[in-house]
Amino acid sequence: MDDARGSHLSVLIDLSPTQWHNSAQGPPRNTYPLPLNSFLSQLLAFLNSHIASKHENTLAVFGAFPGKSVMLYSTIDPTNHDQAIDANSYPPFRLVDSTIVTRITEELEALGEPEEEAPSSLVSALIKALCYVNRVTLPSVSTTNNPADGHDPAILPDPRILVLSVSPDLSTSYIPIMNAIFSAQKLKVTIDVCQIYGPDTIFLQQAAHLTGGSYIFLERRDALLQYLIMSFLSPPSIRKILSVPTQDKVDFRAACFCHKNIVDIGFVCSVCLSIFCQPVPVCSTCRTKFPMKTLQRLNASRPLLSSSTSNASRTSPSTPQARTPTALGADTGASTTNGARSSTAPLGGLPHSGSIGNGTPRAANINGSRPGPEAR
Ligand SMILES: [Zn+2]
Ligand SMILES: [Zn+2]
Repeated sequence: MDDARGSHLSVLIDLSPTQWHNSAQGPPRNTYPLPLNSFLSQLLAFLNSHIASKHENTLAVFGAFPGKSVMLYSTIDPTNHDQAIDANSYPPFRLVDSTIVTRITEELEALGEPEEEAPSSLVSALIKALCYVNRVTLPSVSTTNNPADGHDPAILPDPRILVLSVSPDLSTSYIPIMNAIFSAQKLKVTIDVCQIYGPDTIFLQQAAHLTGGSYIFLERRDALLQYLIMSFLSPPSIRKILSVPTQDKVDFRAACFCHKNIVDIGFVCSVCLSIFCQPVPVCSTCRTKFPMKTLQRLNASRPLLSSSTSNASRTSPSTPQARTPTALGADTGASTTNGARSSTAPLGGLPHSGSIGNGTPRAANINGSRPGPEAR
């Protein structure tokens, strides 16, 4: 690489005490138990290799604690410079290691022992990381006036965010995660995800897929450092040459805006693209009224629709698993963990922007199958 600029890495650590406690349990619960201290020592080795691979590389570390997110370390504004000299350690590594471990210990001790643990604020940490990337990648005023060799040295070429998650999906965070994904696309930030513990998270799968990153579900948890170095150490520009593992299946299901349930079949407002789990007379987001006839037709087609989709799924296993409408909303837990995966995007049937303002708002079906013929 003749590029003298370094690459920026922001790491998000999910620090939910309950999930890490569960992760440390031995067999039969976990074949490969991974306690927090072992995770941290492997993570610090990975962070040190990122700093060591190029002098210009920059690093920021964010922690997602229950109910709050904190910046733990940043190369741009390191918190404590007064480190004791240790002949046996390289000072930059020592600064990263001691700052991160001290900050995590402080924050975990400040949590105390609450009655009920709040879900970890992974989304707020993700948004902070995006704001940080925006700040460090924006060209400063002094350098924009005098471009030295065609590119601004202040602009980092490929910023990326690595999410180390241990928590399951939180369906209320669907809309903020999607907004964060769109911001990441605009900033050209790659989001990599490593699911260290717990079930696959479909929102983070979508985040990695939509920003060109990798989603890795950690199967051999005793080999965390190897996964991190093999998959996430190389910046996105080099990954085209290396064969970095990517996900072969992406779960594209969305959460409805009305109940925040993850739905297999949803109904999309043709004006503002809000998603609902059942046909609604008035869109709660943009207040568009739908014609009574459309509602009746969609309602009448719903049982037929699910049976026709399940017929189709017998012939092609990639079709998303369909459930009867009565089951929708009744068991959110089952719908997030039933493992229904799809390699085709059910959102392919979204009405495009051309349908906006054509005078006759229609509720369109997410799966793209036209309900009309079945209803008649
Ligand atoms: Zn709903
Ligand atoms: Zn709407």
